[in-house]
Amino acid sequence: MSRTIYDLIGLFAGVCFILALKGLSHPKTARRGNKIGALGATIAMLVVFFYANEGSSLPLNNLGWILGAIAVGALVGVPAARKVQMTQMPQLVALFNGVGGGAAALVAIVEYLHLGDTATTAEVIFTVFTVIVGCVSFSGSIITFMKLQELMTTRPVVFPGGRFVIAGTLVAVLGVAVWVVTALGTTPLLVLAGLSLLFGVLFVLPVGGADVPIVISLLNAFTGLTVAASGYVLDSVLLIIAGTLVGASGTILTRLMAEAMGRSLFGTLFGAFTAKPQDTSGVAEDRPVRSGSPDDVAILLNYARRVVIVPGFGLAVAQAQHTVRELADLMISKGIDVAYGIHPVAGRMPGHMNVLLAEANVPYDQLLEMDEVNPTFGQTDVAIVIGANDVVNPAAQNTPGCPIYGMPILEVSNAANVIFLKRSMRPGFAGIENELLYDPKTMLLFGDAKASLTKVVGALKAL
Ligand code: NDP
Repeated sequence: MSRTIYDLIGLFAGVCFILALKGLSHPKTARRGNKIGALGATIAMLVVFFYANEGSSLPLNNLGWILGAIAVGALVGVPAARKVQMTQMPQLVALFNGVGGGAAALVAIVEYLHLGDTATTAEVIFTVFTVIVGCVSFSGSIITFMKLQELMTTRPVVFPGGRFVIAGTLVAVLGVAVWVVTALGTTPLLVLAGLSLLFGVLFVLPVGGADVPIVISLLNAFTGLTVAASGYVLDSVLLIIAGTLVGASGTILTRLMAEAMGRSLFGTLFGAFTAKPQDTSGVAEDRPVRSGSPDDVAILLNYARRVVIVPGFGLAVAQAQHTVRELADLMISKGIDVAYGIHPVAGRMPGHMNVLLAEANVPYDQLLEMDEVNPTFGQTDVAIVIGANDVVNPAAQNTPGCPIYGMPILEVSNAANVIFLKRSMRPGFAGIENELLYDPKTMLLFGDAKASLTKVVGALKAL
């Protein structure tokens, strides 16, 4: 296969990736986008096999090893992706992303050994960049995975002088990078890889649980950049296109997520060093709350003219999306005006609630974004909060210094009545108390969201 054909096919795969991103930007076209992306990735993988030969810049040596590695990857990756719960998706993304960054760093090291003295300064600089960012992405992603999987504390890990240790490690990484470029040699490159791995760990440790998904997105962008840089070293246009797309989209996503949580990126990464200690013990306070039965909830809903459903992480845990739709359909059939209020970071990843509700075929026009729904709570009779907590917590507006302070929220407290469906008085992801649970206009229906909703549907049908 000639180089021109190889590049043209690579370009075609690149176009597939761009169309995939376009498709993924709307729930209606997301499935198609995903398929186009998978097609592009398959073409990109296959074309390397057909192009590669001894004379090309990408000789295909060690075919057995390559096929073996693909088989191992498929054996681990396919079942993991099929089995993963929607609620564990960020961890999986972190793990896959970290492996991608680590692979890019390894490829760069091997390519460096391969080029030896013939490497140009530009190639060495790109190699150094790939090794640093790839290693940071790898070790950082492993820590984010461990935090989200609760294999370690989800709280920010800070220690005295922590920021100086981080700054010192960064300076050491940059110093060794200059050493590699000027002195060349395998030892400095391996020292660089070791220090970068350490920096990745130190960089992510101070990030608290609620901010971890933002860091995953940032590390994802880093991996994209390493892939683009290794594309330069390997002379592969395809890697440059794919890496740049991941880098750019990851950066945009990181910004959007930080904005949706009302945080600056700097505050997200290093806020733990300046934050005041918080009581995040999660121990429920011994104050009275008003709890009700499914019948009480059904009566309240039956007399409502407008109801806003606010879904959160707990809805996903309970897999109650179909039951919530059943309830909404029932209310609509009774002439009640029903809408869903969707917070941009409800759940554990961007678009989590949209995906979940799309699975239950909830019509898109019933989903209202935060800015659209907030002004309507004043005319809402009942806001029914299902497995959500932080995204409706007024502390985000009135408790400076709390972990979610500044995050825009769904202002459900403006509704005439608020119903919370949750299992206990435990706090949400950010680990902070929610005053709204103690508000006299709030009624709590304790229990698993799916079981509670099923009972409410039964009670409402009977009315
Ligand atoms: P929260 O984690 O704040 O609250 C979830 C609630 O669901 C808890 O109060 C829990 O209470 C309840 N719950 C859990 N399981 C069940 C169940 N089976 N049945 C009924 N209730 C259940 O979720 P939110 O969606 O309100 O907030 C999302 C959080 O995630 C925010 O802090 C946000 O910043 C963070 N985040 C989200 C990102 C995103 O992109 N979506 C990205 C980064 C962070 P109980 O245990 O008592 O049942």
